[in-house]
Formats: sequence, structure tokens, C-alpha cells
Amino acid sequence: MNILVINCGSSSLKYQLLDMATEKLLVKGLCERIGIDGYLKHSLPDKDFEFNEPMPNHEVAVKLVLDALVHGEHGVIKDMKDINAVGHRVVHGGEKFSDSVVVTDEVEKYIEECADLAPLHNPPNLIGIRACKKIMPGVPNVAVFDTAFHMNMPEKAYLYAIPYEMYENHKIRKYGFHGTSHKYVSMLAAEMLGKPYNQAKVVTCHLGNGASICAVNGGVSVDTSMGLTPLEGLAMGTRSGDIDPAVIPFIMQKENMTAQEVLDLLNKKSGMLGVSGVSSDFRDLSDAESANNPRAKAALDLFCYRVARYVGSYATAMNGLDAVVFTAGVGENSSDVRKRVCEYLGYLGVSIDNDKNNQRGKAVDVSQNAAKVRVLVIPTNEELVIARDTKACL
Ligand code: ADP
Repeated sequence: MNILVINCGSSSLKYQLLDMATEKLLVKGLCERIGIDGYLKHSLPDKDFEFNEPMPNHEVAVKLVLDALVHGEHGVIKDMKDINAVGHRVVHGGEKFSDSVVVTDEVEKYIEECADLAPLHNPPNLIGIRACKKIMPGVPNVAVFDTAFHMNMPEKAYLYAIPYEMYENHKIRKYGFHGTSHKYVSMLAAEMLGKPYNQAKVVTCHLGNGASICAVNGGVSVDTSMGLTPLEGLAMGTRSGDIDPAVIPFIMQKENMTAQEVLDLLNKKSGMLGVSGVSSDFRDLSDAESANNPRAKAALDLFCYRVARYVGSYATAMNGLDAVVFTAGVGENSSDVRKRVCEYLGYLGVSIDNDKNNQRGKAVDVSQNAAKVRVLVIPTNEELVIARDTKACL
């Protein structure tokens, strides 16, 4: 069974084709600049192909991806019929979906309704689904939600302390994101710990451009740092994370900005970029810090301090901790960030081994042999979770 995984953004489309008999990745790729001009990168395990092709919309992009998949030279399947199902990443599933679902008209309508809660993400996700329906009639589409894994959080974790009617009337609550990643790495962590998943207490740190932390107690997300939107929680590449909400009207007044403009500032010009004035990329920050840039150091210090604070609070939420997992671009690659975070956590029984911590690219335990709490680096694989869920749904 071959499953096509699609992750559709506003002007991009990432894809992977997996053979689910072996879970082997056959090909992956990326369409960029959809609606502008159009660029396709199609990567076989041993060779990349790049094309500049006009992509006026996502439907054309999906068509070009399918052409590339069946192409005589760089294709990996003979016929479109060799695609048995498509799994779509959908960012917001609201309160309704605590699991992945086959897309029906009713599901589509609900994803559309949730666009209110994820205006940047759900509309392009839906465009991807509709394009596949049109071009591949009869092939089932499955929606895999970023929010689903967090839907069993207890009420005390997801409620905001604002009038209850705001929750009842407008569904304002914590939803959480990166669910597929938190689920995948926490399952692998339990395996590495040699514990049944339903007994492991794990804090997963998904540290990429967007970053979130999750307390996974016995296989259930019991708390997570992102909220109604992916703006809450950790400081991120360009997002502020937690701030006093009163900052918003204060900036509006001082800088003569609208609420939307301040929201843009908090989403796109804050976080590592805003504090450092250098970059949102941790490699640039690290270089700048080495060159004695004080604001780059301030940004990295703030980032690591906040990660550590969340880990501590989630150990409290679970009344214990077996492992801290680092994943995604920064978590998997930056030994410096891992070291700086773990320096705060000695009191919990965390103790990193500096030699082991310098390894990259595979699932590895980087703790000292005697450490009570294990520190694990686990490369995430959201596409594999989407493909597995898609298979399971069918
Ligand atoms: P997203 O999927 O949220 O866009 P990723 O998980 O791909 O993000 O992470 C991207 C980030 O990973 C980059 O912004 C960069 O800061 C960081 N990163 C990648 N490689 C390294 C590295 N070798 N050292 C430090 N940071 C890295």
C-alpha cells in the first residue's frame, strides 16, 4: 500500500510517498512559490531534481507532483492508481477530532469552520484536500490533525482563567499543536526507556522554528505549551510565546498600531529574531554569540531558560519524570541548546554526558549512565505518523 502524505501551506506544498508494507520512503519533495511563479524539488533517496514550472494554484501543484511521481525518469510508481490513499496534515481540528478521520463532506465543512482558529493554516490545508479530491477521484483522503493528540488534556490544563462563557460561546481554550510529533517521539522514548507507553512520564520538546513542549503521561498529552493558536508558550524563531496580554494594547497605544499589526509583530518580528536583532535561525545566533553579540546571547539564554522552566512545571504536572526528549531542527541539532536547558534540571536528576550529546542524526540517549532522568534526542517524523494514521483509518 502506497500512501501520499501532503502538507499544504499558503504558498507551499510538501509531499512524501511511502510504501507502507515496509514504511519505506520512496520519494519526498516540495513545491514552493505557488501563486507567484512555481518551483518543484523532487528528491529521490540518491538524487534531487529541480524544476521551475508555473503553479498558479495548489491544484496545478498537486498535478505536477503526480506527474513527477509517475515520470519515466525520476518517477517511483507506474501509474496514479498505485497511490492508495492520501494523508493530509491539518493544523486545527477544533474540539471535535481527537483522532485522524477519513475526509467526508461533513469533515471538510468542520475543517472550514475551524479556519477561524487557524486562519493561516486550515484554509491551505483544505485547498490541498480539495485539489486531491478533484485530481484523484475515488482515492480516499485522511485528515491528520496537529491538535488531535492534545484533545484528552484535562480541563484544568486547557481552560483559560477567563469568563467561562468565552469557552462556551467561542471555544476559546488551549488546543496545542505539533501533536503528531509529540506522539511519535514520546512513543519512541518509551521504547528506549524499556517501559510500556502507558506507564512512561515523558516531556517532549519540539524545538524548531515553531516550538512547543508537551507533558505525555502514560501516552496521554496532559499539558502542552501552545494554546488557542501556535503563538503561546516558548519563545520561538519569530514568535514571542508567553507575554502579559496587557502588552498588546500598550504597544498599540505607544506605537500607534492596530491589534492586527501588533499580532503580526508578535508572530513575525519577535522571538529570537526580535530579541537578537540578528536572525531567527539558531545557527546564526550561535555564530553571533561566539562573536560576542550580547543580544544574540540574551535571546539564546531566554530561550533555554524558558524551555527549562516548562520542563520543570511539566514534571510537576505529572508528579514525576522519566525522560526529556529533544526533537525538531533545534532540538535534534543544537547540542548547545540541549546542554544549556539541562543545566537547569540537575535537581530533577537530569545529567547530560557531553560526549554523547555531541552526536547527531539518530535516536540516542545522551545522559550520564547513572542519571535518574534520561535525556533523549529523537529525530521526529511527522510524515510517518500521518501515513500510519492514514493506513489505520482505512
Ligand atoms: P519548522 O519545521 O518549524 O520550520 P525545523 O524543525 O525545520 O522548523 O527547524 C528549523 C530550525 O532548526 C532552523 O531555524 C534552525 O534554527 C535550526 N537548526 C537547523 N540545523 C541546526 C544546527 N545544526 N544547529 C542549530 N540549529 C539548527
